[in-house]
Amino acid sequence: MNIIVCIKQVPDTNEVKIDPDKGTLIREGVPSIINPDDKNALEEALRIKDEYEDVRVIALSMGPAQAELALIEAVAMGADEGILLNDKAFAGSDTWATSTALAEAIKNIGEFDIIFCGQQAIDGDTGQVGPQIAEHLNIPQITYVEGLKLEASKVRAKRRLEDGYFIIEAELPLLITATKALNQPRYPSIRGIYEAFKGDRIKVLTAKDLGIEEYKVGLKGSPTRVSRSFTPELKAGDLVMIEGSPKEQAEGLIVKLREARII
Ligand SMILES: Cc1cc2nc3c(=O)[nH]c(=O)nc-3n(C[C@H](O)[C@H](O)[C@H](O)COP(=O)(O)OP(=O)(O)OC[C@H]3O[C@@H](n4cnc5c(N)ncnc54)[C@H](O)[C@@H]3O)c2cc1C
Repeated sequence: MNIIVCIKQVPDTNEVKIDPDKGTLIREGVPSIINPDDKNALEEALRIKDEYEDVRVIALSMGPAQAELALIEAVAMGADEGILLNDKAFAGSDTWATSTALAEAIKNIGEFDIIFCGQQAIDGDTGQVGPQIAEHLNIPQITYVEGLKLEASKVRAKRRLEDGYFIIEAELPLLITATKALNQPRYPSIRGIYEAFKGDRIKVLTAKDLGIEEYKVGLKGSPTRVSRSFTPELKAGDLVMIEGSPKEQAEGLIVKLREARII
């Protein structure tokens, strides 16, 4: 069984720097981590690997050269190998171009049974890439998964809703997007760290290696245009402190919410 886990390297703070001219995110020089939801995605893949025989877990990322560190960490946690899509041709990709490149890489890997993605990335935050990959590959998808059981050739998943959950069954192959509630990601083991730094576990591929026409990725392949990006100003005048006992504070809050016609 082949399981592919899509891993995005993200800045380790929510303070994303934006190129004011291009409207794109600046990654270089910013300390980076594996996107938190992607660790839950990887952990779920590793749990399947722990439980069943002949399971191969492949971590896949598209990003700058430094994203190799995220894949090294994934191997240290227990993934068998990492594939980094790194090419100038991918620069400026929006979610559509990103999912196009990742889907082509998955086709290039060949056989796969489950693709795991995170629910969303903490920087771009669209939650679009996973569902788009499933559409490119024409396979079923279950998003917002907070519980998963593999049963022979199908999965049984608990899918989060705002006010409850669905239990969904689907046949393999399929794509799953993982939430934080799915599991507790493991730490890399000493042996894993040793294996990850041996240097033969990470493969770097270009657009040409994948046979992707350059007009399908990067800025050329991106239908999205960012017209303006800005940080909303915090207005001190909007802050109201309600003093008193807990009861008085609660009553004061109700008055304020009624005045603002929120309740
Ligand atoms: C016009 C435009 C230009 C852009 N230019 C750039 C640029 O030059 N450089 C840049 O870094 N970003 C750029 N971006 C942002 C980039 O498109 C998004 O970061 C990327 O498509 C992922 O979207 P997201 O962060 O919303 O991920 P989400 O859709 O929220 O991510 C969901 C899941 O998809 C998977 N995933 C997402 N991205 C990747 C990835 N790269 N590799 C592996 N798995 C992934 C992960 O499992 C993740 O948890 C640009 C965006 C736009 C709109």
